[in-house]
Amino acid sequence: MKTLVVEDTRTALKLTCHYLERMGITPIPAENGNDAVDLFLSERPDMVLLDIILPDIDGFEVARRLRQLEQPGEWTPILFLTSLTSDEDLEKGIAAGGDDYIFKPVSDVVLGAKIRAMQRIIQMRYSLLVLTRKLDTANQELKRLSSLDGLTGIANRRHFDETLEREWRRSMRQGAEFSILLCDVDNFKQYNDSLGHQAGDDCLRQIAQALTGAMDRGGDLVARYGGEEFAVILPETSLSGGEIVAERMRQTIENLQIPHPNAPSGRVTISVGLASGIAMPETDPSKLVKTADRALYNAKNQGRNCVHLLASVENQDD
Ligand code: GH3
Ligand code: MG
Ligand code: MG
Ligand code: MG
Repeated sequence: MKTLVVEDTRTALKLTCHYLERMGITPIPAENGNDAVDLFLSERPDMVLLDIILPDIDGFEVARRLRQLEQPGEWTPILFLTSLTSDEDLEKGIAAGGDDYIFKPVSDVVLGAKIRAMQRIIQMRYSLLVLTRKLDTANQELKRLSSLDGLTGIANRRHFDETLEREWRRSMRQGAEFSILLCDVDNFKQYNDSLGHQAGDDCLRQIAQALTGAMDRGGDLVARYGGEEFAVILPETSLSGGEIVAERMRQTIENLQIPHPNAPSGRVTISVGLASGIAMPETDPSKLVKTADRALYNAKNQGRNCVHLLASVENQDD
């Protein structure tokens, strides 16, 4: 524990420093106001004992400057130790940023007790800071987990919805076109029925990882939309750009060559519906999802393991 001791009378300064050392506190002596401010900055003391009558700037001014130097949330206790004993001076000292105001001469016992009381507050404040930091970390982790899907570890539906809202607003502001893909695993009920639910879960995890790996832009998002469906948001991507990504995703899953006992191709495959659009004021993002869902339905009807695309949302009527 370091304490800045500001006192222009040499003997008084020496006595106080000596007393602090006996309390196990390291004193940092300063004989005038400007030195005190400089030492405060370079030494970062835990406490300040501050005389008021000094040869240059007075103690009130020193206290004000120290408070200005503190970052938001920082607090260093300032105890005035002075021979100015009027009520007005005491009030001025507290207003200037002081936390306590002790009249000189002071006995070692009283000074020691005042310092101990202040140390107790410093300690409690420190414990509170540590606790707040732990809470912040826990909150960040909670926030992260609340946006992830429990089974596959990729983004969940909530994260998808939030991202979609954000992209929608951006599209409205900037007129940027963006695309949505809905991917659905083909004949997945039969996969579960013949290999078991556990194998089904493993398969979904593999697909989630493969789809995530097939993305090549930082802003793209793959999410588990529900059950055996995955949704992808491609910001600033047109229908033709989206088609390339959709086809790459379909191909990626086919290339995994996960055996499927009841599928015509003998492998696990996905069908992909694609919709692209620019946000319009009178519509909402769910409309684009609906369009992608219709495209997916068409892909299923066309025999599965394929991509179907539908034009921009503003051209669609429900
Ligand atoms: P289609 O090609 O038309 O999409 O047929 P499908 O069998 O995939 O579609 P359907 O909607 O009939 O069945 C989806 C199946 O996905 C039903 C369910 O058993 C399975 N499923 C959904 N969520 C999970 C999951 O979290 N784990 C597992 N193992 N299976 C799931
Ligand atoms: Mg003095
Ligand atoms: Mg489905
Ligand atoms: Mg399916």
